[in-house]
Amino acid sequence: MTVGPRKGALHPPASIAVVGGGQLGRMFIQAAQAMGFRAGALTLTPETPAAQVADWTVQGPSDDLATLRALAERAEAVTVEFENVSAAALRWLAKRRIVRPGWRTLWTCQNRLREKTFLARHDVPHAPWRPVRSADELAAAVRALGTPMVLKTSSSGYDGRGQVRVDAEADAADAWAILGRPPCVAEGWVEFVAEASVVVARGGDGRASAFPIALNHHERHILDSSTAPAAVGPIVAQEARETALGVAQALDAVGVLCVEFFITADGRLLVNEIAPRPHNSGHLTIEAGLSSQFDQQVRALCGLPLGSCDLVRPAAMVNLLGDVWAGGEPRWGRALEDPGVKLHLYGKHTPKPGRKMGHLTVLDETPDGALTRAREARRRLMEKN
Ligand code: AMP
Repeated sequence: MTVGPRKGALHPPASIAVVGGGQLGRMFIQAAQAMGFRAGALTLTPETPAAQVADWTVQGPSDDLATLRALAERAEAVTVEFENVSAAALRWLAKRRIVRPGWRTLWTCQNRLREKTFLARHDVPHAPWRPVRSADELAAAVRALGTPMVLKTSSSGYDGRGQVRVDAEADAADAWAILGRPPCVAEGWVEFVAEASVVVARGGDGRASAFPIALNHHERHILDSSTAPAAVGPIVAQEARETALGVAQALDAVGVLCVEFFITADGRLLVNEIAPRPHNSGHLTIEAGLSSQFDQQVRALCGLPLGSCDLVRPAAMVNLLGDVWAGGEPRWGRALEDPGVKLHLYGKHTPKPGRKMGHLTVLDETPDGALTRAREARRRLMEKN
């Protein structure tokens, strides 16, 4: 007989867990431990960022029954740090333990075709798109969207991987071939003036709140910096928050979710992507938020009241990619010469170009002031003298 998930809120020192071993799992565990929970990770190997700080680990792939059984034995409630956990695994777990977000939320967000269909069905503004699952659909997409357009693989693309820009109609077939002709979404090119995101926390009772909108700057498709609150004016800021809260409600998501936007020159907000988990652009909430996005993830998972999404001060976060190690070990002391700089490293042993190794956060009187200081600190890491 299966024992169902426990009813009611979980209190410390209950044992809770995250599926995934990356930095998002690590920061979830650290937030859970700060609140007195025992926090574990389902991780592929023992040396992952999450495993290094976890009270306990279960090792193995997340779609393996023995691994899931071991996880269910140790954790009363389970969340995820990445969206590509199979729906079957989450359904199996949810019969036994609290699982948040639920499999339907992840199912929708782990595939671009399903995500776009969801946005269209709920009238959420987004870039024009067409499904591409055959040569005929590809030709129809180019006709409908024109060029430039972007081909994005429907599943398992992130940080710009699995994407090709198509500049001319004649290049479309080659671009699809480069990706291996998998099911794709073709997206019309958006001439955006800025990219932004809103992180939302939503409880099992449907109550939700949103952090202030963050302005995001990408380099080579990878997030480089986030600044909040974004200087986008009160109307766009409010619209972004309402849209993100609407998306969370329509998905019936429980936990933390991030909605990424393009902002066009005429002030329109188009949803680019939904991440059903904490997000890189929300890391600055660790220092700047009354509750961080990870605190909110713990609270929502455990059925506790959500914390405040207010920021105590404007803040900026800059990522530290493996590129920062190109000239040797970064000069940590130089970055920390600014007493307001907070350093986060994720415990990854091998720096590689484009690999997220850590981040810096700075709080300041203004978002721009915080960004300038965070960038300066990062630059000092790589100074020769
Ligand atoms: P994504 O993985 O979909 O978030 O895309 C990564 C980055 O590629 C985005 O942050 C944008 O900078 C750029 N990008 C993606 N889709 C489009 C588009 N339709 N138009 C213009 N730029 C795009």
